Amino acid sequence: LEAVVQAGEGDERLEPRPPVVTIMGHVDHGKTSLLDAIRQTKVAEGEAGGITQHIGAYTVSVHGKQVTFLDTPGHEAFTAMRSRGAKVTDIVILVVAADDGVMPQTIEAINHAKAAGVPLIVAMNKIDKPEANPDRVRNALSEYGLISEAWGGDTIMVEVSAKQKTGLDTLLEMILLQSEVLELKADPHRQAKGTVVEAKLERGRGPVATVLVQNGTLKVGDVFVVGTFSGRVRALLNDRGVKTQQATPSIPVEVIGLPGVPSAGDVFQVVSDERVAREIADERAQKQRSADLAGQTKVSLDDLFARIKEGSAKELAIVIKADVQGSSEALAAAVEKLPTPAVRIRVIHNGVGGITESDVLLAAASRAIIIGFNVRPEPKAANLAEQQGVDVRLYTIIYEALSDIKAAMEGLLDPTLKERSLGRAEVRQVFTIPKAGVVAGSYVVDGTISRAAVGVRLIRDNVVVFEGRLGSLRRFKDDVREVQQGYECGISIENFNDIKAGDVIEAYTIDKIAGKL
Ligand code: GDP
Repeated sequence: LEAVVQAGEGDERLEPRPPVVTIMGHVDHGKTSLLDAIRQTKVAEGEAGGITQHIGAYTVSVHGKQVTFLDTPGHEAFTAMRSRGAKVTDIVILVVAADDGVMPQTIEAINHAKAAGVPLIVAMNKIDKPEANPDRVRNALSEYGLISEAWGGDTIMVEVSAKQKTGLDTLLEMILLQSEVLELKADPHRQAKGTVVEAKLERGRGPVATVLVQNGTLKVGDVFVVGTFSGRVRALLNDRGVKTQQATPSIPVEVIGLPGVPSAGDVFQVVSDERVAREIADERAQKQRSADLAGQTKVSLDDLFARIKEGSAKELAIVIKADVQGSSEALAAAVEKLPTPAVRIRVIHNGVGGITESDVLLAAASRAIIIGFNVRPEPKAANLAEQQGVDVRLYTIIYEALSDIKAAMEGLLDPTLKERSLGRAEVRQVFTIPKAGVVAGSYVVDGTISRAAVGVRLIRDNVVVFEGRLGSLRRFKDDVREVQQGYECGISIENFNDIKAGDVIEAYTIDKIAGKL
């Protein structure tokens, strides 16, 4: 059905569209200040009331041309969208405080932009400060492949002060220049397609979403599908909170008339027919439910490995985190030099410190694996990695990391080896115990059910109904570490109570992670 709706493309009448810009950089380097400064000087121009409404994006006008800024600065938001398949940003503005210089999140931002293949313009901010040293910044940036035009390179760098509002016009002109090079185009004559950049439930107004129109023109009364919802546009508000009848490509609008709150990154698609819209939404909801049931992950590395094996994928991206810079650099250099004829290995980010959520998002969006050397994932990052199906491998010996990757590349490290069943138990009887929840009186039919399991899954009629963690494991009244084949025990699963007699509970471990942590 979706294919039918997407068809009918071609026969396009492409016209230039404004660039969409995201601001990134280290904390406190002035991302928010710069966004505000540009908005104040440009949006408020000629408008008595100034800015009344705040939505997730705004558009400014420069010499009669428009530029749209996404109002969620930072590479995490950027990459989170990208990991959902949404490409909304055309140009990244990298803010570097000229007094502070290149910092860890500056480097992260550079690598996130590079991994996405989005061109980058440097705004050297806080140039008003006496300690500002733009040449030092240029020098530091050149180490990351960003060579200033002033030094014969091709990276545009503009000195600005968000505080004193200087250099902003030059920055905007450079954005327009870059966007001309990119030849950004869209067809305003067709039905709109866009991406949700922000959505929330508002008292009195119901669900509202800021949608960035990417192609076509969105109009009041249009029928749409977004995520698992369908509906009709009741009203459109522009970035100043003013009602508008339509929005053309690269223009953000607030959409009213949604039956629910979609997620940032969801595609917003206009379709001709209300019934078709409803069917697509239902179909998606159905798919989502069955995916949830099967415990599927969003990004499948297994898939990538399979494609590498069959020869249709040619590149493995890697994120490296290590305890000290020396190690991360040595590892990155060694990994890229590995003799793997069939596949190119590319280190898309290497840095110092624990594995963070931002690293996991980057890996998910780029289908990369993460290698930690003498570091561990932060707890939130570990959860996210599990949820997103990102492969995290931890090492303490460089040689081991290298031989592992080499082996993986030669097809020896079959990803199915990663996970190993520890044992299975059959549920015989179910008890509901106050406070403790549902406990499954079970009989271990093979292997062992162990507290050391990374996870358990509940299988009903050969279908995985739930995957989660072991809650409690008891023999009679005692908590035990493991129960072997042929014994009875009581098992509970964290956050899951829908257990029935006849179900099978399987405990499993993930060798690479469990072995190294
Ligand atoms: P963000 O964390 O990157 O969003 O940074 P903010 O925009 O919150 O700015 C951090 C601090 O730097 C704030 O105290 C700002 O007032 C200050 N700041 C931002 N831009 C400038 C600037 O151009 N000059 C000076 N002197 N201070 C600035």
